[in-house]
Amino acid sequence: MADKVPYLDLPAQIRSVRKELDAAIARNLDACSFCLGPDVLQFEKDFARFIGAEHCVAFNSGTSALHIALMLLGVGPGDEVVTTPFTFVATSWAISYVGATPVYVDVDEATMNLDPKLLERAITPKTRAVMPVHLYGQPFDLDPILAICKKHKLPLVEDTAQAHAARYKGRIVGTFGEISCFSFYPGKNLGAAGEGGALVTNNAEFAKRARSLREHGSTVRYYHDEVGFNYRMEGIQGAVLGVKLPHLQKWTDERRRVAHRYHELLKGTPLQLPLEAAGCESAYHLYVVRHPQRDKLKEHLDANGVGCALHYPVPLHLQKCYANLGYQPGAFPVSEKAARECLSLPIYPELTDTQILRVVEVIRDFFRQ
Ligand SMILES: *Cc1c(COP(=O)(O)O)cnc(C)c1O
Repeated sequence: MADKVPYLDLPAQIRSVRKELDAAIARNLDACSFCLGPDVLQFEKDFARFIGAEHCVAFNSGTSALHIALMLLGVGPGDEVVTTPFTFVATSWAISYVGATPVYVDVDEATMNLDPKLLERAITPKTRAVMPVHLYGQPFDLDPILAICKKHKLPLVEDTAQAHAARYKGRIVGTFGEISCFSFYPGKNLGAAGEGGALVTNNAEFAKRARSLREHGSTVRYYHDEVGFNYRMEGIQGAVLGVKLPHLQKWTDERRRVAHRYHELLKGTPLQLPLEAAGCESAYHLYVVRHPQRDKLKEHLDANGVGCALHYPVPLHLQKCYANLGYQPGAFPVSEKAARECLSLPIYPELTDTQILRVVEVIRDFFRQ
């Protein structure tokens, strides 16, 4: 039987930089700079430069960064934030954490990103921010969304957790909105050896307050200006991310190679393939195909040793935790159909052509049955 193709192969990535990681972690252990510290500070500078932003503030997770982003914008109880129902739940957690209400807008059938055509009708006098997601690594349609934000004087927050190094009209995403938030969860395109996140902004005041809020609301130790959080990045994560960041562009290019190979080989199958919108360069965090027989196809892949996953099986407006928002099935038909049909295939920089061919062979075999 052919070799198994894992859905994700983190050990392969760790192996490729293992020596550098060991040295960086050892240096951090010697220095005992475990909470923030010089490795984190250096990573913040390097990541800001990579994104082309003035400021990067490192966090203990992407979720924490999103939470603080909405605090910086003054979003609170009674306010509304317009967002997508078709994403990882953490996008909406930030809205709930500040006591505001998520207001969902359905996604575009081709890109799975928030549909700009539906955005304006969701805006009310209570709207305080617009927070779409660059889902699966593909930039959302920034120009029309920015135009609507400008018209209504609303800040844009980019959830960039899946889209490190993705480009919109040639420019890396993460500085189009007032604030953008990244995740360095191990499976993300740039992953820590544990949890991690970052808030990126060109606004110096936001960056300053974000630094205070992540550290118990203080800039001088034991003097607390406001109620804050322990949202600091660990020193070891800063060291690990510092080793991995120089590889990010190359890893993104490799993800794009895998995606293009899938496109080429899966064209002509009954699958709906991910579409890269004009002017967009996806970072291909995920390669998500769609088909009405998704569950059967998944069983077939599982049975033949090809790993796959669902992103996401239930849109947020139908999650139990958000039943109180009162949405019914049918509220966002495009998201609901995508949730039924989506299937994420293996994609990572280390995926070989032999492995890609194996995935495609198993898929073709399914449609021959
Ligand atoms: C991963 C992710 C987050 C949360 O990041 P964590 O670092 O896991 O807290 C937020 N939004 C999206 C779209 C994500 O994929």
